[in-house]
Amino acid sequence: MKSLSVIIPCYNEESVIETAYGRIKTILDSLHLVSSQILFINDGSKDKTPDILSDIAKKDLSVRVINFSRNFGHQAAVTAGIHHCTTDFAVIIDADLQDPPELIPELLAKQEEEQANVVYCVRKKRIGESKFKLWTAKKFYRTLNKISEVDFPLDTGDFRLIDSQIIEQFKRFKERGKYIRGLISWVGFKQVPFYYEREARFAGETKYPLKKMVSFATTALFYFSKKPLLMATGLGFITVVVGIVMALWYLFGKIFGYTNAESGWTSIMIIVIFFGGIQLLTIGVLGQYIGILFDEVKERPEYIVKDFING
Ligand code: UDP
Ligand code: MG
Repeated sequence: MKSLSVIIPCYNEESVIETAYGRIKTILDSLHLVSSQILFINDGSKDKTPDILSDIAKKDLSVRVINFSRNFGHQAAVTAGIHHCTTDFAVIIDADLQDPPELIPELLAKQEEEQANVVYCVRKKRIGESKFKLWTAKKFYRTLNKISEVDFPLDTGDFRLIDSQIIEQFKRFKERGKYIRGLISWVGFKQVPFYYEREARFAGETKYPLKKMVSFATTALFYFSKKPLLMATGLGFITVVVGIVMALWYLFGKIFGYTNAESGWTSIMIIVIFFGGIQLLTIGVLGQYIGILFDEVKERPEYIVKDFING
């Protein structure tokens, strides 16, 4: 006998909320759980999402809603969901029904069978996504895996089942920039994959424009890897070696008269541009980490809750 929360981040999802609630509710009712709750996090939606959620919560007391004061982003919404979770298990799922709620019983069965702390869902196939998204996602997960200090499962989103041990450990994370799927991998314990086919969005449009995708990928990269700094050092090292060789070449050329130094405008321009570029690039890499430090030391809250419905 278990208790389960379903955590659903929502941002402008008026066209899918009702259907998502209906499908998830049906599934939860069919399971023999001690208690279950559906936890919607309204991430500052500007459409009818908050009204729909409050109507649902009025009729169904097992539905809890956390309303944010503004849009804080998908990862902050999921974080709030986990922070407010008090059940034995939680499933994190998107509102748009790309991750079929009908798989929840299978996730629970898998957990029981393997006595796992995490059952993470690996996408065998993704339907209804643009070629660009599929390609960037594929490259992103593989590159991140190569350069990060943690071994992340590939093609895995936040759709997963986690148990109370993971939930408790997650609550200890103090960092504001959260790459949740990475952090859960990092925690350890027993984590097992579950393969599924990701469906197309039920309705509405993606809430992840390019800007949010880039910021998401940047957080993952810079919070989980110091390799960019090492690469900057490596680049610096190579250019120093090249510089020394060139300096010696020209010096000896001047002494022994095998270079014609006066006609060197092109080579100087190339060198200035090349080294200028490398310097700006490495300063940029440093800047990313300093920016993260800046954000983290401010210790601002990750999200601000406007109000709760049903506790
Ligand atoms: N989402 C959110 N805040 C945001 C952006 C997205 O809570 O700022 C939610 C969104 O409502 C959905 C989930 O995060 O439940 C995933 O977003 P979406 O389906 O748009 O992303 P995609 O599947 O296109 O990557
Ligand atoms: Mg989606």
